[in-house]
Amino acid sequence: AEYYGLPRWGQGHFCADDDGFVCVRPLGEDGPSIRIADVLAEAEAEHGLRPPLTIRVQDLLRRRVEMLNEAFRRAIEQEAYAGNYRGVFPIKVNQLREVVEEILDAGRAYDFGLEAGSKPELLIALSQLDRKGDLLICNGYKDMDYIRAALLGVRLGREVILVIEQFSEVDAIIKVTREMGVEPNIGFRVKLSAPGEGKWATSTGDNAKFGLTAAEIVAAAKKLKRAKMGHCLKLVHFHIGSQVPNILTIKKAVSEAARFYCEICKMGFALKYLDVGGGLGIDYDGSRTNFESSMNYSMGEYARDIVFNIKNVCEQAEIPVPDIISESGRALVAPHSILVIEAVDRIVKIPEEADKLTTKKKPHPLLADLIYILENRDNHGALERFHDAQQKKEEAANLFSLGYLDLATRAKADTLFWQICAKIQASLKAEGYVPEDLENLGALLAEQYVCNFSVFQSLLDHWALDQLFPIAPLQRLGEEPTIEATLVDITCDSDGKVSEFVDLEDVRHSLRLHPLGKDPYFLGIFLVGAYQDIMGDLHNLFGRVNEVHVFLEEDEEDGFYIEETIRGFSTDEVLNFIQHKGADLTRAMKKQIDTATRNDIVKPREGVRLLNLYTDMLAQKTYLRPGDNSKPIKKKS
Ligand code: PLP
Repeated sequence: AEYYGLPRWGQGHFCADDDGFVCVRPLGEDGPSIRIADVLAEAEAEHGLRPPLTIRVQDLLRRRVEMLNEAFRRAIEQEAYAGNYRGVFPIKVNQLREVVEEILDAGRAYDFGLEAGSKPELLIALSQLDRKGDLLICNGYKDMDYIRAALLGVRLGREVILVIEQFSEVDAIIKVTREMGVEPNIGFRVKLSAPGEGKWATSTGDNAKFGLTAAEIVAAAKKLKRAKMGHCLKLVHFHIGSQVPNILTIKKAVSEAARFYCEICKMGFALKYLDVGGGLGIDYDGSRTNFESSMNYSMGEYARDIVFNIKNVCEQAEIPVPDIISESGRALVAPHSILVIEAVDRIVKIPEEADKLTTKKKPHPLLADLIYILENRDNHGALERFHDAQQKKEEAANLFSLGYLDLATRAKADTLFWQICAKIQASLKAEGYVPEDLENLGALLAEQYVCNFSVFQSLLDHWALDQLFPIAPLQRLGEEPTIEATLVDITCDSDGKVSEFVDLEDVRHSLRLHPLGKDPYFLGIFLVGAYQDIMGDLHNLFGRVNEVHVFLEEDEEDGFYIEETIRGFSTDEVLNFIQHKGADLTRAMKKQIDTATRNDIVKPREGVRLLNLYTDMLAQKTYLRPGDNSKPIKKKS
C-alpha cells in the first residue's frame, strides 16, 4: 500500500486490509470499509457486469460535499466573517444524473446550488433546483434562448444569476429582460491580471477566452445603469483554472477579485456576492507540493485564505463583506469514482524460453560478442557495457536488413541485448548511482500489461494533458510486486497507454506489479470522478464502460449494496451512433451468407450458425470478453 501511495493520496478514504485487498472508506479513516474486490464479485454475480467497470461510491460523494461546506463554515466562524458561504456544483465536471442528485441531496442542508455553462446544462439545473431561492450560476457563452431559460428560473423563484462573460451579452440580457418583463440577477466575470498556475492556467489573464477587462466592466456597468438595471448587478466572478497547485496563486487572485468587488460597490452598485470559481485541487500524487498533480494546501486552508483575504480587502475599502460563492467541481467529485480494469496479457522483452537461445556451442560471431558482454568478462562499467550492447544490436538489425543474418539469429541477438540491459539495471540498483544514458533503462525494460479498457474513453486527460492518476492493484498488496510494467489499452493506437505514474518526488515511468497468475488481476485507477466520464470518446468504437453505484449498508458491519447499474454500450448501440444500423448490417450479412449457400460454399445449417454468430456479437459488449475458461470473480469475505 505504501509503494502505491494509498496512505498519501487516499486521504484516509483508501487503504489495504490485512489480506492485501484495497478497500474504500467513504466516511474516512474511522468509518466502515468496503473491499473493492467484493464489489466486483457482486457486480458480476448479481448483475453480470465485469470490468472495465466504474464504481461510484455515493457516500464518498456526499462526504466531500459536507467537507467543503464545513470547511467554509469553520473558516467563517474563525475569521468572524459577517457574510455567508453558498457553494454551487459546476455540472460540467460530472453531469450524470445520479451524481448531480446525490450532491444536491447532500447539499440541501447547506443551500448548495448548481452552476451551468451551456444550454443543456442549464436545462438540467432548472429541472433539479425546485426550491425557492435555490442558487443557479449561469456561466459560458449565451444566446437569447439561454438568457430566456435563465429568466424562466427567476420567474419560478430561483436565485438565477447570469454571469456576463462577453461584453456583447450586456445588450442581449437587456433585450430579453424587456421582452419577458422579468428582472435578471447579473454578475460580471472579471479578467484578473493575477496569473493562473497549473495545466489550466490560461483560464485567466489578458488572453483568456472569458471575462471582462477593467475597461469593459466600466462600460458594461454604465450600460446597465442607462437601461435602469443597475440594481440587477449582484455578483463578481472569477475563475483562474482548474487544479490550482499553489495556494499563493489563489490568495493573489482572491485579493484582486475582492478589489474589483469593492470598486464596483464604490461605483454605486449594491453587490451581494463574490464568486471565486473553481480551482480547488486534488492531491493526485499525495506529495502535498505545488507539482501539477498535487496541491500544497488543504481544503481548510483554501477556505480560510478565501475568507480572510476577502475580509481583509473589504475592511481596507470600508465595504461590507459579500456572501461567498465557490464553484468547486473536481474537489467534490474526483474521489468518489474508481475505474477498475483487468490485465489480460503481458508483452515482454525477454521471452520465457530465452535461456535456451544462448546454449549453442558455436554461436554466430555477433552473438558471441553479445554473450561476452553479458558475462562481462572484461569487468567493464555499466555504461560501457550498455553502449557496446547497443552497437551490437544495431549491427544485428543492419545485417538482418541486408540479408546477412537469419531471423533466428536476429531474435537471439535482440534477446541477448535485453538480457544485458536487465543485468545492467540490476547492478545499477546495487550501486545507487545512475548515469544519464541509463536513466530510462528501467522504463525501456518494463513489461507492458495489456489491460481491457480504452484510455481514450476512460482516461482522456492522461492522453491529452499528461494528467496523472494514482493506480494500484486491487489485490495481493501483501505480496512483493516484482515486475516493472507500464499499461497498454486495447485500442489499436500506440498512444493508448499509461506509462507515467504518480510518485512523491517525480514522475515514475513504470509501476511495479505482480506476475499474472490464474486468478484475474485487477487494477484500480483512482480519483477519476471529475471530467473523465464525459470527455471520453469512441475511438475504436469501445464506448461507455459498465458502472455500479455503491452505498454503505448501515445495518451491516462494512456492508454495502449496489443500488444502480449502468450497462456499458453494446456493439449495436455504438454502431448506431455512426449511422450503422444493426438491422441493416444483419441484412447485408444475410445476403452474403445466402449467396455463399446458393453457391454451395457453405451448407445451409452452417450458414445459420454463421449468421447467429454475427448477430450475437452485435448484442455483446464492445470490450474484450473474458476467455471461455476464465474464472468468475470470487467474493473473498
Ligand atoms: N467554474 C468555471 C467557470 C469553470 O470553468 C470550471 C472548470 O474549469 C469550474 C468552475 C470547476 O473547476 P474545478 O473543477 O477546478 O473546481
